[in-house]
Parts: sequence; structure tokens; C-alpha cells
Amino acid sequence: MTAAEKSTLAHFLDLTDDQLRDGHSRNREDYAFKDDELPLPGNMEKAEPSTAIPLAYMVEEPSESSDTSESSDSAESSDSLKNIYADIAACKACGLAANRKNTVPGEGVTRPLVMIIGEGPGADEDAAGRPFVGRAGQLLDKMLESIGLSREKNCYIANMVKCRPPGNRDPEPDEIAACFPCLERQILLLKPKIILCAGRVASQNILKTSQGINALRGEFAQITIGEIVIPVLPTFHPSAILRDETLKRPAWEDLKLLKSRIEELD
Ligand code: URA
Repeated sequence: MTAAEKSTLAHFLDLTDDQLRDGHSRNREDYAFKDDELPLPGNMEKAEPSTAIPLAYMVEEPSESSDTSESSDSAESSDSLKNIYADIAACKACGLAANRKNTVPGEGVTRPLVMIIGEGPGADEDAAGRPFVGRAGQLLDKMLESIGLSREKNCYIANMVKCRPPGNRDPEPDEIAACFPCLERQILLLKPKIILCAGRVASQNILKTSQGINALRGEFAQITIGEIVIPVLPTFHPSAILRDETLKRPAWEDLKLLKSRIEELD
């Protein structure tokens, strides 16, 4: 492991620790990590570790802010985020509509490197009308940040369902089915380079499988939507990481895998 990788891992473990305790960031002394010594064949120079995540993809179509509601008409498609958000706001296709304060359509840049898909809004998201803004969302933001990603720069965050399931229960299959056409429209319009599924519900429903998250995570699968084929990486939901510290290490392995796939895109 390089010193940079060790330091990113330590940072990730520290912030998860902070979240698990009380959500407050603690000051910690600087770590003095060194690169592992690699047995190098012959006279080969040690290659510089690559840490930069390419941001060029999002620069293609910069958005003024993370609110993409006005700005993402696609050249090839007559659909737009504005239309999708309006349809979501008016939607009564399942029982979740009756109790929502707000719909939570999603947010991020219009040409994302990575689209993160969670399961559904919780109470904080329902109140704010924005995805992943509670404790799990704060951890998600830190996890993304540790590999150079954010909803402001190069990601888009959405959910399987756009309205809050009561009591934070999992969304039911009929609710996911009712919402899926909107998610599909978002994917087709945004054309993310990679999809990161946060948790079992998103992973199983995006990949159309009944396999558990422990079997699915840690390697890329892919989906075809319309004409586009998109690599999909299932990983643990940040709420699960907050509940179970032993998931921190495999979640970090997934982030490293995501980072190296992003670097391959260039
Ligand atoms: N959990 C999710 O799956 N999505 C959110 O938006 C918030 C919490």
C-alpha cells in the first residue's frame, strides 16, 4: 500500500469512528505513513501512485450548482431532468405518495462519472427533499470525498424510490416497480460512467438478482439500459457501515476498486 492509500484509509476509518460515536469530527494527530517497500524487478523505477480522479467528464456540461433541475436537456433525448422531477412531484403511483412531505428526486451533476443509487429517503431526506442528507448521507459524502468524488463535482445521487417509506422500512417490490421508470429515465439522461449501488435493496433491484449484498459487493457487474451498458458496483449501505464497524474494511476495498475503475476510464 502507498502512504497516500494508508492515509486515505485512516481518514475513512477515523470519520466512520466519529460517526459511530456521536457524529462530531475529532482532531487527530497527523499520521506518518510510508509506502510499503515493493520488491522491484531489476532497475525498474517505482511508478508514482495515481491518486487523481479525472474530473474532465463532468466539466463537459458544468452545472451552476448541485441542483440540476433546470439544466440537463440531452441532445439525443427529448426528456429532461425538469420533466422527470415534475413527473415525480406529481406521482401517485404507489402508497408512499400519501405520507410524503417532499419527493426526493435526486441531485448532482448532469454528466456524472458516478451515479450513486440508494434505497429510499429517510426522515431527513423527506423533510429536505434532497437525497442522503442525514447521518448516512454525511458518511456517504466523506466516503466519496476520500476518493475524489462529490455530488457537487462529479456524481449524481438518487434512490430506488423517491418518497419516504414509513418508519424507514425497506421499499416494497411494488413501490420499487412503480418508481423504476423514473430512475431509468434518470440513468438514460445522465449516462453515468459507473453506478455505485448503496446497499442490498439497490443492488438487488438494479442487477435483478436475489443474491445477498455480501455476495454481490466487491466486484463489478453491469446493466444495459436502452442502448447503454453501465458498470455497476454494489457496496454496503452507509447506514449498515454505521451499525456494523466490521463493514468498514470491505467498504474501503470497494471504494478503492471504484477509484481504480474510474482511473481506467481515462
Ligand atoms: N438512505 C438511502 O438509501 N437514501 C437516502 O437518500 C437516505 C438514506
